[in-house]
Amino acid sequence: MPDPSRFDSDLSEQRFQLLVNAVTDYAIYMLDRGGHVVSWNPGARRFKGYEADEIIGQHYSRFFREEDRAAGMPERALRAAEVEGRFEAEGWRIRKDGTRFWASAVIDPIRDEAGELIGFAKITRDITEKKAAERRLYESEQRFRLLVQGVTDYAIYMLDTDGRVTNWNAGAQAIKGYSFEEIVGEHFSRFYTPEDRAAGVPARALATALAEGKYEAEAIRVRKDGTRFWAHVVIDPIRDDSGRHIGFAKITRDVTERRNVEEELDQARAALVQSQKLQALGELTGGIAHDFNNLITVIRGSAELLRRGGLDEKKRAQYLNAIIETADHATTLTSHLLAFGRRQPLKPEVIDLNVRLDALAEVLSRTLGGGVEVKLDLAPTLGLVDVDSTQLETALLNAAINARDAMPNGGTLTLSTHNIADESGDMVCVALSDTGSGMPKEVLDRAFEPFFTTKAVGKGTGLGLSQIHGFAAQAGGRVEIDSVSGKGTTIRILLPHSHKSIAARSTFANQAVDGAGKTVLLVEDNEQVRNFAHILLTELNYRVIDAESAEQALAVLDAEPVDLVFSDVVMPGQSGVELGRLVRERFPALPVLLASGYSEEIAKGGAGDFDILPKPYGADSLAAALARVVNDTVRQPA
Ligand code: ADP
Ligand code: MG
Repeated sequence: MPDPSRFDSDLSEQRFQLLVNAVTDYAIYMLDRGGHVVSWNPGARRFKGYEADEIIGQHYSRFFREEDRAAGMPERALRAAEVEGRFEAEGWRIRKDGTRFWASAVIDPIRDEAGELIGFAKITRDITEKKAAERRLYESEQRFRLLVQGVTDYAIYMLDTDGRVTNWNAGAQAIKGYSFEEIVGEHFSRFYTPEDRAAGVPARALATALAEGKYEAEAIRVRKDGTRFWAHVVIDPIRDDSGRHIGFAKITRDVTERRNVEEELDQARAALVQSQKLQALGELTGGIAHDFNNLITVIRGSAELLRRGGLDEKKRAQYLNAIIETADHATTLTSHLLAFGRRQPLKPEVIDLNVRLDALAEVLSRTLGGGVEVKLDLAPTLGLVDVDSTQLETALLNAAINARDAMPNGGTLTLSTHNIADESGDMVCVALSDTGSGMPKEVLDRAFEPFFTTKAVGKGTGLGLSQIHGFAAQAGGRVEIDSVSGKGTTIRILLPHSHKSIAARSTFANQAVDGAGKTVLLVEDNEQVRNFAHILLTELNYRVIDAESAEQALAVLDAEPVDLVFSDVVMPGQSGVELGRLVRERFPALPVLLASGYSEEIAKGGAGDFDILPKPYGADSLAAALARVVNDTVRQPA
């Protein structure tokens, strides 16, 4: 047994003793050569539960489990420390109260100056917690691995930093067709189409994931057998604890089914909108035919009176004005019908409801008939909305037709707009109020139901209000309805206020032009229209060369200089747009103006960036349009 006084002999030893005594996280104690405890620190007391005077002099084997003692472990540990110079192990140890803890133990031999073994230093730490945490981590990793492996609907796999596959789950095999052995080590770009590979999409995907923390896309991918599928792909960068980038996690789902269903749904929805629109249109045609007959009567009557001749100047002017005004009315009407009948996909655009209502009120006041007065009450500064304009028009027409039906003996339909701020945000409201029959509660309760109608067979479909509801919901808004039996009904369509701005549209500057002897090449296949345009252009002091087709026009351009080309869009052979393109190619500085009666042509953007003069046109609108294209072409030569 070493003499404890040898350790107290100098001051540094004393300080060392103080340090050891202060340590409570480690059991630090000494054993003599035979393994008996000779010193004991507070850490040892804490872990093992013995007071110093209880344990000093006892053999350290009592800290071992029965079976370990029987197997001679305590002795072996000391001999190993003596021979090897150090012994280190983890294992179960026993506290005074018999409970176990998982210990990390280190035993160092202590020798005197002569090198003779005098005992052992023993340091023990309770790592039960750490052990349990490791165990939990291991188990959770194990579970996670099983989970990932078990998932068959998602391809889940990892890539190294270069994009090579490092592991592969059952879902990846099911979706992409490669087995683990085939694919590990291969570059992930093989899942892309050759087009995408050529365009550098795979590398960009990894770069985006790295730069933005995530890459997400829906695109076509290729299976092992070469077939293609729609994939939803997410790529996340993986970093280790120190933040170093070590690879990517990739999750791919086959969404082909879903895409197909969505496409079918879109088609069905578009077909429904179209049929609802046609229905509303059908209801209107009766009124419109009537209206057109009136307009034609005025025009024809005035023209006949003019043909008779012998009229004084005042009468002549009066009839002429009647013709022009009536033709203008007819133009507004047809342009609305064309816009309305247009078949187009659901496409939101930024709209000023005041402008739309102003135009609609005009159509309604002619078509509703039966003593229905249409009034406008528009908010002076109204927020914009971002909606599909065909659906909007259908909704407004449906509401207007309901109002008409509710006022068989006439009344007033008021179209009004307001800005509203409520808990759902800034909204723009368009309200249609009628002074009609109103609805009893049992009708009001069911009014929005599809196919619910109180109208006679063949008169009502019960789809009007459900279309309005569907439109508002799709646009992120809602519909409210107030109705008092016998007093009237107000239907309010609330749409979210959009902060986008209205797409810039080319508008013709309203400035007169003087041809001043310049030469216009006029291209128009219809003889009457060509003659009419020829007269207008001559009135505007242009020299006019006529052409019946684009082909003829090109021949003229090759033969003589002209200052301006004015062409119809829809013609047999090459269209006006094609002609315009050829002219721009060959004569970049030559201004081109196109005329079209089809709003669809313009709406589809089929006219490229050419300026379009809507048909029918008159001297004023033609002059303004010519001035505009000339100015534009001069300012920015093509
Ligand atoms: P439909 O007009 O084809 O009957 P709607 O869905 O447009 O179908 O309207 C459903 C029902 O709601 C109508 O049949 C009518 O009874 C009632 N209704 C709708 N709008 C009004 C209104 N402005 N005034 C009175 N009743 C209305
Ligand atoms: Mg209706």
